[in-house]
Amino acid sequence: MTPAVTSAVDGVEERPGLLARLAAGPVICAEGYLFELERRGYLQAGAFVPEVVLEHPDRVTALHEEFVHAGSDVVEAFTYYAHREKLRLIGKADLLETLNQQALELAARVAAQSGTLLAGNVCNTNVFEPVDQLTHANVRAMFTEQVGWAAECGVDFVVGETFRYLDEAMIALEVIREAGLPAVITLAVHREPATGEGMALPEAMKRLAGAGADVVGLNCTRGPATMLPLIHEIMPAVDVPVAALPVPYRTTAEQPNFQSLRDPTYDGFPGGRPFPTALDPFTCNRYEIADFTREAHAAGVRYLGVCCGAAPHHIRSMAEALGRQPPASRYSDDMSKHVYFGTEPSLAPHNLEFGRRL
Ligand SMILES: [Zn+2]
Repeated sequence: MTPAVTSAVDGVEERPGLLARLAAGPVICAEGYLFELERRGYLQAGAFVPEVVLEHPDRVTALHEEFVHAGSDVVEAFTYYAHREKLRLIGKADLLETLNQQALELAARVAAQSGTLLAGNVCNTNVFEPVDQLTHANVRAMFTEQVGWAAECGVDFVVGETFRYLDEAMIALEVIREAGLPAVITLAVHREPATGEGMALPEAMKRLAGAGADVVGLNCTRGPATMLPLIHEIMPAVDVPVAALPVPYRTTAEQPNFQSLRDPTYDGFPGGRPFPTALDPFTCNRYEIADFTREAHAAGVRYLGVCCGAAPHHIRSMAEALGRQPPASRYSDDMSKHVYFGTEPSLAPHNLEFGRRL
């Protein structure tokens, strides 16, 4: 927990904002709400619209709380894909404002109770086309309404994430800055290590930072192994804090993003590929996430997290790799009293002997 600071002006306790926390050390932001709530049976894969915010708000609150318990410094409102285009797609455009406001309120309550940062969120709209200026205006309008609701709710900053196109990210950044809020802007890089426009990532990050993004970097689609090399390229290009929030999957040079992963041991996938509902065998264990955290932190990454596929144990591992002891560390593994593999002197020798044959 970051300690509260006291304002010299009026003696009232103020929570440090994002920039103050980044100046003091790395910030952890848990993501991956879509996938985790899908696994838990409260959200449909495919359209991936967070109707759960309205239908089972207690489940969203619980997941916010679990991520904070595990060490997240940020509660990110679950407005991912709660934009006008996604709601149109499922025929529920009338829910747009209610859903966004409810998502923000749920997150705000957990952030206030835990002293964590509250983040608003916008993401790829899926209507942006680089050459079509009309889509740019539509995208700007979509971001403006969502960022407006976030600002009304009093968020500490806004995350603009999983953008394939730099220019769409730029529009999000402009809208967030016009609202007077700090902006964390992350691009999603799929197979090609470049933006949707074909621009090299260091150049794209330089432009985002130059346009006023407070944090720039990458999130989603790539696992730790295939995101880290890109992060190493980005680091020297910018002076602002860099973000790295991979998906917790064992991506490879040949299959660098989670959509491209193929599972040779099973061929019964409904969609012909493990993405998005059968990625389980590729999941990184908690120690791999700790390794990623140490390497990214050593490279200078200041804003860390895990995206689609993340569960609270990944976040706890990330926090512990940074030397922290979040509340969930109370239950971190201690095998010394294990019946077969323990070291406690009172353990029965016949069980330890059995353990040696396991
Ligand atoms: Zn993701």
